[in-house]
Amino acid sequence: MKVLIDNGHGENTPGKCSPDGKLKEWAYTREIADRLVTELRKNGIDAERIVKEMIDIPLSIRCRRANDIYRETGGKAILISIHCNAAGSGSDWLSAHGWSVFISNNASMNSKNLAICLAGAAIGKRIFVRQPMQGQLFWTQNLAICRDTICPAVLTENFFQDNKEDVEFLLSDEGMQMVTQIHVDGIKDYLNKYVR
Ligand SMILES: [Zn+2]
Repeated sequence: MKVLIDNGHGENTPGKCSPDGKLKEWAYTREIADRLVTELRKNGIDAERIVKEMIDIPLSIRCRRANDIYRETGGKAILISIHCNAAGSGSDWLSAHGWSVFISNNASMNSKNLAICLAGAAIGKRIFVRQPMQGQLFWTQNLAICRDTICPAVLTENFFQDNKEDVEFLLSDEGMQMVTQIHVDGIKDYLNKYVR
């Protein structure tokens, strides 16, 4: 099984940063993606980033890259797209906070299970997981990276880049390790439970 990691946005994407400019989503998610690939490989899990460029790669190309690998591996690939959430346009500090995971409207049972495993890993670390309703651990949205990929695919929104406490946590060593480890543990749980 190959774990494909997508990091959102690029250095040329406008906005997408904290009000104080300290957290830039494209750079942060690349750092987490790199850490995640390293940790997964340490755990004997094949992992690869699908966007190695620093610039923003269009969603259609990212989906094609993932789908090509899915076909090449005979259907043995899953995809996780890593993002940081925002409640506003990035000009003000706002109050929304916490971690969440998304799937597309056309998600397969495998995508749902992957999302549940990731959310379970976050809850296991006493992270506040945002839920659309009690008992549902994932959000459903029309997301191209999940909708147009043929492999199990989820998108994680790792805390809020416009919440002051969240950004402090995200940029701390503890926060970066936590965000990485949520993904490592969630992916391992999914592979153990649903992949033979
Ligand atoms: Zn994003």
